[in-house]
Amino acid sequence: MSTQPERAGLEASRLITVLANELKPVPPPQELRFGQSMTDHMLFASYDPVNGWSAPEIKPYGPFTLEPNSSCFQYGTSAFEGMKAYVGPDGEPRLFRPEMNIARFARSAARMSLPPFNPDELLKLIKALVAVEKRWIPAGKGYSLYIRPMIVAIGLLTSNTALLWVMCAPTGPYLKGGSQALSLLAMRDTVRAWPGGTGEYKVACNYGPTINPVQAALDKGYDQTLWLLGDKITEAGVMNVFIVLKRDDGGIDLITPPLDGTILPGVTRDSILALAAAHPARMTLPGLAPTTLLHPSERTMTMTELQAWLAEGRLLEMFSVGTAVVVQPIGNIGYDGKDIALPTFEGGRGPVGQALYERLTDIQDGRFEWEGWS
Ligand code: PMP
Repeated sequence: MSTQPERAGLEASRLITVLANELKPVPPPQELRFGQSMTDHMLFASYDPVNGWSAPEIKPYGPFTLEPNSSCFQYGTSAFEGMKAYVGPDGEPRLFRPEMNIARFARSAARMSLPPFNPDELLKLIKALVAVEKRWIPAGKGYSLYIRPMIVAIGLLTSNTALLWVMCAPTGPYLKGGSQALSLLAMRDTVRAWPGGTGEYKVACNYGPTINPVQAALDKGYDQTLWLLGDKITEAGVMNVFIVLKRDDGGIDLITPPLDGTILPGVTRDSILALAAAHPARMTLPGLAPTTLLHPSERTMTMTELQAWLAEGRLLEMFSVGTAVVVQPIGNIGYDGKDIALPTFEGGRGPVGQALYERLTDIQDGRFEWEGWS
């Protein structure tokens, strides 16, 4: 019986740290725009089918060389994540529900036939990287360190030789205008994801084809796209969407499309649903009366329904959510050549969106402890 050498797993205990000789100046927070300056270091590991994972390294951030025939260039065999570290009131870095991002990263990698890794080990490594880059985490509401894990295939035709790295960039508010309401252009003829496709994974091939339609929306004066599938509303840009509706019994419905395979299972989406379900029995959301009963649910929503709810005066708020924006109000939808004006509010978010935003950012920044999320 021949014994195969055991392939090494991704192991945090094998971490090698080589720090940069010279550290870059950290830009002042007010100059930070989303994802612009990279920090001093990155986490790096490679995988080959004989040896498995290399010893992970924290090393100076910088370019590397790749074979021109690497599969990631030709077939887009690449998956990634987007998560954030915040500084808490104690000055210590915090990650927000990182297990959810890493689990999604593992699912996305598997969909692209990229090699598996132990999520717990990757989390330990990301924590080590964030500890090294602590001085880069800007303080203040809306500021954080954006963390981008990536895994790409470098073999030809196969995905079984791969590189994994994690890079970080200090970020300020995603949009220059802060919390102003977005104007979205609903896309009828270009779809982001479809049944049986890869919409529920964070894989490169979902994103490249959206650059062109998003630019078309920007050229027409809109801020982002609203992705439809037929009449169904799916997502907005790289954000999940929520609609707030008045109920006949005086309560409030908070609805978002179900995870049917065409929707990215957002960490923010999941958190918003959970926080809304906790109000008011387990915790009251800031600014919302305990008598305001919220009924969160995952259900299909269509453009036809949206227009009917608006005409009936039932549509109270619409907002998009994601790691980058947290909660961003939507004030207008361009659809079939006309603009559909949605309720807008002074300061940006409506009362439900604002309450959820406040609570979520309090948890992220460590001002409010909730379920070990931060
Ligand atoms: N939808 C898409 C297509 C996205 O890329 C993202 C960003 N990851 C989201 C929604 C929001 O997900 P999350 O809350 O996990 O950032």
